[in-house]
Amino acid sequence: MSAGAARLYVVLTYVPRRTSVPVGALGPVMFERGWYAYVGSAARARRARVARHLAPEKPLRWHADHLFTAFPARRAWLVNGAAGECELAGALAALPGAARRPHRFGAGDCRCTGHLVYFARRPRHVEVASAAGQRAAVRAFGLPPRLKPVSGDD
Ligand SMILES: [Zn+2]
Repeated sequence: MSAGAARLYVVLTYVPRRTSVPVGALGPVMFERGWYAYVGSAARARRARVARHLAPEKPLRWHADHLFTAFPARRAWLVNGAAGECELAGALAALPGAARRPHRFGAGDCRCTGHLVYFARRPRHVEVASAAGQRAAVRAFGLPPRLKPVSGDD
């Protein structure tokens, strides 16, 4: 697959207070209060993958399963035409107030710093689009009503 054909997604959640969460092989991970954007890719069945992240109960298979079980997803985007997931995570982390953490989260199949990006404040659609690059298309993934954000949304 060429880099430009990556079928990526971003799932956003909010951690309301400093919390330690067991994350599989990473062990207990301390999540500071704030927003977290998880970058993933799915060559096939991407919508089903994202829906799985949004499901309240599931087998805890990936790092992200532990996070989204503890803190339900608030928003998700599908990203077409960006470079790979490692690159998108890096570009998101370059936004103001953002950083990749915890180290190596979700990076079991690559060598990068990690696929989870912390934000002190909620990242907006336009920021995700700017991180994805000019040639990429970013569109909102419809959340089930129980997960719809309640306020301050764009
Ligand atoms: Zn990576």
